Amino acid sequence: MVGRDHVITEAGRLLVYESDGLSAYRWPPRAVVLPASAEEASGVLRLLHAEGIPVVPRGAGTGLSGGALAPEGAVVVGTARMNRILAVDPPNRLARLQPGVLNTRLSDAARPFGLYYAPDPSSQAACTIGGNVAENSGGPHCLKYGVTSRYISGLTLAMVDGELVQIGGAGRDPEAGYDLVGLVVGSEGCFAMVVEVEVRLLPLPEAVRTLLGIFESVEDAARAVTAVIGEGLLPAALEIIDQGTIRAVEASVYAAGYPTDAGAALVVEFDGTQAGLDEDARRAEACCLAAGAREVRRARDATERLALWQGRKKAFGAMGRVAPDLLVQDATVPRTRLPEVLGRIGEISRRYDLTVGNVFHAGDGNLHPNILFDRRNREELERVEKASKEIMAVCVEAGGTITGEHGVGVDKRGYMRLVHGADEIEAMRGVKAVFDPRGLFNPGKVLPDEEAP
Ligand SMILES: Cc1cc2nc3c(=O)[nH]c(=O)nc-3n(C[C@H](O)[C@H](O)[C@H](O)COP(=O)(O)OP(=O)(O)OC[C@H]3O[C@@H](n4cnc5c(N)ncnc54)[C@H](O)[C@@H]3O)c2cc1C
Repeated sequence: MVGRDHVITEAGRLLVYESDGLSAYRWPPRAVVLPASAEEASGVLRLLHAEGIPVVPRGAGTGLSGGALAPEGAVVVGTARMNRILAVDPPNRLARLQPGVLNTRLSDAARPFGLYYAPDPSSQAACTIGGNVAENSGGPHCLKYGVTSRYISGLTLAMVDGELVQIGGAGRDPEAGYDLVGLVVGSEGCFAMVVEVEVRLLPLPEAVRTLLGIFESVEDAARAVTAVIGEGLLPAALEIIDQGTIRAVEASVYAAGYPTDAGAALVVEFDGTQAGLDEDARRAEACCLAAGAREVRRARDATERLALWQGRKKAFGAMGRVAPDLLVQDATVPRTRLPEVLGRIGEISRRYDLTVGNVFHAGDGNLHPNILFDRRNREELERVEKASKEIMAVCVEAGGTITGEHGVGVDKRGYMRLVHGADEIEAMRGVKAVFDPRGLFNPGKVLPDEEAP
């Protein structure tokens, strides 16, 4: 159906697919199939379904919860070849594309029309729109613009048995009837394979102001975040990078000129029409200084702005210099609780003798404590797991939840009962069964094991 070259079964080539961005889990798939079109994907799914073989959809494998991993005997159906932008429709501010298109490529294609695609995961140069739809991904600028679900107006799905189904489309809002697009966005690749996507585009902002606040501690930077929001300002982004992360970035090719003796840096960005932006930036600067910033820098031009963002967006990659493995945690807490929760995370990391770097979407209260480790060291891995569990419990106790944007996948199934009651989990199981009655589509993800009677 897809050509011999696009069916991978050799162990060496399968290695690429045994993990995603969360390297602690390694599950080699039985095979990987790479269709090039919706019709090919549909044919592949029909065949696998007839044989009773479980399938797992996969984009670029940058996911951070193990969602694209194949349980034993499962076949991965990847979207690497489904990478065409089918149409950009400037008058309606829409685009239609295949799911394997990389996030930044979509904005690159829209830019000549004065448009862009707003959700910007830090991994945007590598992750796919299909993966973004599955995870309902966010990004630094989602503080102002909202996450993926706001920008998906139509989907074509290949169901578990291969049937092609179109939902939404041509910019329609789901006012009439149930919001089926909304149901599928964020379903973590557990309902159906997304084979075509229609997205909403936005006009490029007229102007941007980017600030970098330098603080003695991450807690002070978090206080500045609360102050900026409390001031009634609406930045496009508010991102914190702590000392350990700053040092890793500055030692790498992504060095952005952040001072390495600083306790934390806070990136504050405003965008929109020219008028009023300087005043917003001035007020945010005053908030930072009042919260204890020792210095607030302003990017003077596009090159300086890019350098500031490069430091933030490549932070995870830079940490590869410090340790071979990184567990990127993801949880949210109410913004006002950030200073206290960050303090407790620091205490947990000291108690377990682990290095934890924090780089996160502070404006959303979306924390990413990144635990550095070497998975070959079993004893260290155990400490990582215990610390991770405690961090999750602290976030939930503070009124937060177990994921802000990376999803539950395999990694957080065990935490689901911390935030959902038995009835709610049963209801989710019911929804999953409507799409996938035989449990053949991305099994073993998101929902916890059934409780023993
Ligand atoms: C350095 C780094 C930074 C990151 N920063 C962010 C960030 O700022 N914000 C954020 O939200 N995430 C971030 N992530 C996480 C990750 O990039 C996102 O979850 C992304 O959307 C995953 O896309 P992918 O193409 O790599 O998907 P994969 O990892 O391949 O898959 C992710 C999930 O989507 C499903 N899936 C993939 N394609 C399809 C499809 N066509 N149909 C149905 N299901 C599908 C898979 O089954 C799996 O469950 C980051 C990751 C890294 C490594």
